[in-house]
Amino acid sequence: MSAPATTVAPNRVVQQQASAWELAQAIQNGQTTSLELVEDAYERIATMDGTIGAFLSLTKEKAIETASQVDADAKAGKPLKLLAGVPIALKDNMNMTGTKTTCASKILKGYVSPYNATVVEKLVANGLPVVGKTNLDEFAMGSSNENSAYGLVKNPVDIERVPGGSSGGSAAAVAAGMVSLSLGSDTGGSIRQPASLCGLVGVKPTYGSVSRFGLVAFASSLDQIGPFARTVTDAAALYQVIAGHDERDATSRADATPTLDIAALAAGGEDLKGLRVGVLQELDGISGDSKKALQPETIEAFHKGLDTLKALGATLTTVSLPSTQYSVPIYYILATAEASSNLGRYDGVRYGHRADAANLHPMYRATRAEGFGPEVKRRILLGTFCLSAGYYDAFYGKAQQARRLMTREFAETFAKVDVLVCPTSPCTAFKFGEKSSDPLAMYLSDIATIPANIAGVPAISVPCGVDALGLPIGLQITGPHLSEAQLFHVARAFEAATASRA
Ligand code: GLN
Repeated sequence: MSAPATTVAPNRVVQQQASAWELAQAIQNGQTTSLELVEDAYERIATMDGTIGAFLSLTKEKAIETASQVDADAKAGKPLKLLAGVPIALKDNMNMTGTKTTCASKILKGYVSPYNATVVEKLVANGLPVVGKTNLDEFAMGSSNENSAYGLVKNPVDIERVPGGSSGGSAAAVAAGMVSLSLGSDTGGSIRQPASLCGLVGVKPTYGSVSRFGLVAFASSLDQIGPFARTVTDAAALYQVIAGHDERDATSRADATPTLDIAALAAGGEDLKGLRVGVLQELDGISGDSKKALQPETIEAFHKGLDTLKALGATLTTVSLPSTQYSVPIYYILATAEASSNLGRYDGVRYGHRADAANLHPMYRATRAEGFGPEVKRRILLGTFCLSAGYYDAFYGKAQQARRLMTREFAETFAKVDVLVCPTSPCTAFKFGEKSSDPLAMYLSDIATIPANIAGVPAISVPCGVDALGLPIGLQITGPHLSEAQLFHVARAFEAATASRA
C-alpha cells in the first residue's frame, strides 16, 4: 500500500499514506495484513528517518508479535478491534516492557522498562503494533525538540525547521508518513503545538481521562497522553482506544468512558448549526497585545477559520478570560515546582546512569551534573526555588490561587459557549537555533496551549491553513471537561469544510 517518496519542495520529506481508519478497514477486509503494514513502516523509517530523526529506538520484535496475532484473528474471520493492526509510534517517555525508555536524557541511558504503561497495554490489547519510541525534548521540557540529548528532529514539511516540541519525534513520524498514528504527552502544549507546526491533528484530552500510569512524570497535575494523526477521525479512534478509568493512576477519572461513533465521524457531512463558539479575545489577533503576540499570517488563517465555522452554522461571540494572560508565568511556576520534585528520583541509584565517585553524595551530585541537560537543570533550579521556605507562598501559593481563578473562568465561559477557539501556536515552524538561546521566547510558544492544561480541559489542534512559505497553521478548539465527543465533531466538520475548499 506504499507510494514512492514524494518530494514536493527541496526541504520537504513526506510520503503519502492512507489514514489509520482506512488501513484498519483494509486489514479487516483482507486487502492487506498488519505484518505487511509493519514491514512497510520499517521500510519508510529506513529510507526517511536518517534525515528526519524521529525515532530513538525500534521495537520490531514486539511489533511483529502484535501484528501476527491480528493477522491470525483476521484470517480466522474474527471481528477486529478498533484500529487493530495499524502501526503506531510511542513517545520515548512511556514505558513498554523490555524496551529502552530514555526520555531523551543521558540520565536514563541504558534504562530498560520493567513494565507496560496502561496506554501500551491498551494499544497491544487492541492490536496496534508499536514500531518504535520517538525523540522528544529531554523529559518533555521544550517546544522545539532541540533539548534532546540524542539529536534534532527535523520538521518533514521543511527540514530546516523545528517540528515543535516536546513530542517532536511523534509529530514528525506521522507528518513524514512513516506511520499514521503516534502518541505524545502534553503538559503545556507538547502535542498541540507540534501538531500545529507539522500540519497534523493533535489532542490534549481531559486531565484524568487517559491513564498516566507508566508515563514518566514531568508535572503530574498537568501531564496527559494524547494522539497525533493526520485526520480527525483517526485521532478520535485512537483516543477511544487509550481513554478510560485506571485504578493504577490516582488522578484517573471514573467517568472517563468515551463511546465515540467513529464510523459516523468518518462519514462526515455534519454541520455546526446551533453551536456556540467563543472566540478568545486575549488571542483573537484584533486587540493590540494579541496582534503583537501572533504572526500576521496566523491571524489571517485564524480569521478565515472563523468564517468557515460561521458558514457551517455556528454562532460566534467574543469572550474574555483575563487570567489566561498570566498562563505562561503560572505554568512555569507550577510545572517547574512539580518537575523539581519528580526529577528527584534520578539519583544514580535507581535508574539509568551512575557517575563514578568515592562516596554517596559526590555520586548523586556527579550523576545529576552529568546526566541532566541545561534546560532540565534550569527547571529544577527554578522549581526548587519556587518551593523553598520563604518563597513558597509568594510563588507556588500564588500560582495555585491563579490556577483556581483560571479554572473558574473556564467553567463560567463554558456556561455561555460550547467551545472556545484561538490559534494553536503564535507562529509557524521556526528555524533551528532561532529561539534556543532565549528561553523566554521559547516559553511563549505555548501561550495559547497552556491554559487548557492549567484548567484540565480538553483541546484539539486541527490544520487551518499555511503561511507564505507553505508552513502549517493550526486552529485550537477547547471544550469543557470530558467534551471530547463534541470537540471531534466540531474539528471533523471544520476539517471537511476546509478540505473541500482547498
Ligand atoms: N513547551 C512546554 C514546556 O517546555 C510544554 C511541554 C510539554 O507539554 N511537555 O514545558
